[in-house]
Parts: sequence; C-alpha cells; structure tokens
Amino acid sequence: MPEKLFISTSIPYVNAAPHIGHALEFVQGDVLARYYREKGFDVFFLTGTDENSLKNVLAAEKRGIDVKVHVKENSDIFEKLTKVLDISNDDFIRTTEERHIAGAQKLWNACDKAGDIYKKKYEGLYCVGCESFYTEKDLVNGLCPEHQTKPEVVKEENYFLKLGKYQDKLKKLIENDELKITPASRKNETLEFINKGLEDLSISRSQARAHGWGIPVPGDSSQVEYVWFDALSNYINVIGYANDEKRFQDWWVNNKRKIHLVGKGIARFHTVYWPIMLLSAGLPLPSEIIVHGYFTINGQKISKSIGNVIDPFSVVKKYGVDPTRYFLLREIPSGKDGDFSYERLEARYNGDLANNLGNLVSRVAKLIETNLEGELIFNPEFLDKEAEKRIEAAKQKYEKAVEEFQLHTALSHIWELLDYANVYIDGKKPWVDAKESPEKFLKTITTSTTIILESAKLLKPFLPETFEKIYKTFGFEPGVGAKEDKIIISEIKPLFPKLQ
Ligand SMILES: [Zn+2]
Repeated sequence: MPEKLFISTSIPYVNAAPHIGHALEFVQGDVLARYYREKGFDVFFLTGTDENSLKNVLAAEKRGIDVKVHVKENSDIFEKLTKVLDISNDDFIRTTEERHIAGAQKLWNACDKAGDIYKKKYEGLYCVGCESFYTEKDLVNGLCPEHQTKPEVVKEENYFLKLGKYQDKLKKLIENDELKITPASRKNETLEFINKGLEDLSISRSQARAHGWGIPVPGDSSQVEYVWFDALSNYINVIGYANDEKRFQDWWVNNKRKIHLVGKGIARFHTVYWPIMLLSAGLPLPSEIIVHGYFTINGQKISKSIGNVIDPFSVVKKYGVDPTRYFLLREIPSGKDGDFSYERLEARYNGDLANNLGNLVSRVAKLIETNLEGELIFNPEFLDKEAEKRIEAAKQKYEKAVEEFQLHTALSHIWELLDYANVYIDGKKPWVDAKESPEKFLKTITTSTTIILESAKLLKPFLPETFEKIYKTFGFEPGVGAKEDKIIISEIKPLFPKLQ
C-alpha cells in the first residue's frame, strides 16, 4: 500500500471573486500534490470555499440578493479557477454542505465533552474583514494590521475555547517539529506568540450579529459557531470525520503526512487555534503547516481602492495556463513576499520559456527530424558522463528544494540544466557533425535529448501541460509506440510562441 499524504490549501472567503493571490496558493498546493504523486504517494489534495462568514452576508445584502445564491455564485467561480489553472484537487468542499456542517458540530461536541468550552460575557474589538477579535496590542495605530480599518467594539455573551490549557503541549509539539512550521521564521513567530500567553478564544456569535447565517451551536440555537471554528474543521470533514470512520482513520488518524498550505495572514489560525481544537477533541495534529507570502502588484499592495486587483482568468487567457503557473512559481519566492508585474511576466515568458526551454526542444527535435529521419535509437553509451552527473545533481537539489517549499529554487535548478544543454549544443555544433562525424552527432543528440526529457519530468508537477507537449514531440504518446530506447519525432510546434 502506498503511503498516504493529505494536502490542503486554505479555503477562501467567497465575499468577492478570486484575485491573482488565490491563484498563487492554488498552484503552489498543486505542485506539492503532483510532486508527491510522482514520488508514489497516495495523495489527497483538497481545496474549497469558506461560506459561513458574516462578510458573505454583508456582501449579499449589498447586492440585494439571497446569501445562498451569492455564496454559490462565488464558490462556482473559485471552482472554475481551479479548472482553468489545471489544479489537480481531489475534492472541493463548501462549508455550507451537509458533510461539513455535521463535522463542525461533531468537533464542537468533542471539545465540549473534554470540558474545554464555556460561556461568558465578553467585550472586544472585532474586525469583520478578518472575522477576528483583536486586543489593543495587536492593532497598528488603532487599526487592523491586515485591513487598516478600525475594528468595532462588540459586546455579547459567547462560548469560549480554553486555549491556555493546551499552551505548553502545543509549544513542545512545535519546538520539536512534531507540528512542523515552514519556513522556520514562521515557527519562531508562532512560538513568540504562544510565549506571550494564550487568551481563550471566542468560538461563537449571537444569531443576531451573524444575521442568522452560520452553523448553529449544538444545543444552543441562539448562537452560531464562530466562522473560523467552523471553517478549520473542513480539513477533516472532507475525509469523513462525521460520516465515514474508516476513511477518517485512514486519512487523518493513521496518516503521518498531513500538510496545510496557508497564507501568512491566517498562519496563526492554523499554527495555534486549529491544533488546539484538535488536541481538545483528542485528535492527531497535522504534520506540517506551510506558510506562503503575499505579493504586491508593481510594488503596491493588492487593493480594491488602488484598483490594481488582477483577475487570474484574464492572465491565463492572455498568456496560457503554464506561463501563468510558471511566473507565479518562479517569480514569487515561495515562503516570502514577491511582486507581480506584467513586464516581469513577459520577460520570464520570452526568456525562460520561449528561448531557454522552447527553442531547445524544437532545435533538438529538428536535428533528429532532419538528420535521422525523425528517429533516434537510444544508446546509453552515447550519453555524456558530465551531463549525466549534472542531471543527477540537479534532481537532488530539486527534490530538496520542493520538500523545503522553495519552489522557485526548484525551478531554477531545472533551468540551470536547460542552460547547460543550450551551451553544450552550441559548443558541440551537431549541425556540422551530422555530415562529417555521425558518431559525435549521435552523442550530442542523445545527451541533449536526455537532458530535455529528464528536465521535462522534473517540470511535470509545475507545468503539466508543457510536460505532455514535450513528451509528445519526442513520440511518447499512447498509441505512437515510442519506447524509452527509441524516440520518434512527431509534429514540432513551438512550445511558447514569442510574445511581441
Ligand atoms: Zn482585519
């Protein structure tokens, strides 16, 4: 039985349509899912939408439509984006689904049974944008650090989850990487936060303040579950927490590899609150929380008021799915912040994709087509030893980079290999050898073809469509009959036609 690996993205709020930042998280998660599938893991890759937020109610009220209609419309757009970006998710969960509601309530009951939920009167500063209470010390100049808006004073009776009770246990689990937080800077940040002392978390809202929208608290219909308490449980609800014990045991309880990929703005919910909810319910924790950064547009924060929100659908439409994926994965350092600009995108397209990769593939394919009647019998003795070493070294560095969530670095290792191949061919001048020295020609072509095919394999999780196209060019297609030892050139089309 192959080892299981569960990986999720966060589930975005559907109060508005997706922007390019959502595309980043989708493709990053997709690379990890596809990478581990290639490594032989039985992968379950999850994404979905968070629909019980007050933000959705407010957005629907503004539009003058029913909340259910509003969330369904927007959820459909997010799901469509996963298809447009070629995301290989195995499920798409919506938090308004019955399977989720049942799980969110079961988790509540489990924490309650452990004696960790109590009711008290509360007054606090609330940011609706974050759906989160803040203390004065969390604010920057009195404003929410995420939204730069003034939080409202909220006074009501809520249920609370005892966080302090699990503080030391959580700290140990994070310190010894039983709950691994990547990158390490986020681990340190989390430990600092825990060391300041955890205040109990408000986990319900009055029906009135929630505008009647949300998952009712079991046994108290005057309250709904706090949207984060409800939303976080999606990760286990999708694999049968409430309704399929066997599946839940297989995918969560007995599975060692469970990864959540999240943006830095919601790291704390995943590194502190969610693990404590699980500890309280007596359930195992995820194995790793990977935190990615944000990006700016031409150096400016993405914001509706600046009007620089980029629609991911239009980017894919203009440049294609793989160039969009490539740019996001190569240009934005995975664990850090980066910048998006069309100028940089086009430079990456014309340079890395059209020149370094696309031209290399057509050049070598054309040499085989012109000089070998389109067929290369693969003889491993013709493979250059230096090139072989470089391929092996690149593979190792690539794997290390992906597993440390340095996706941009992993890509740079593939391009080092492609650059090497380009320089190698220029130096060997196979177009001269083709006539004068056939054996030398075969060596050069065997080596270049090997580098291309090996690079394509490494590219597969990042640019699945490009991988297919490259393999197809060299005759690896069901029905064509190419084997590993014989390459048959099929139609040669430019992989990335140059942008003007
Ligand atoms: Zn906020």
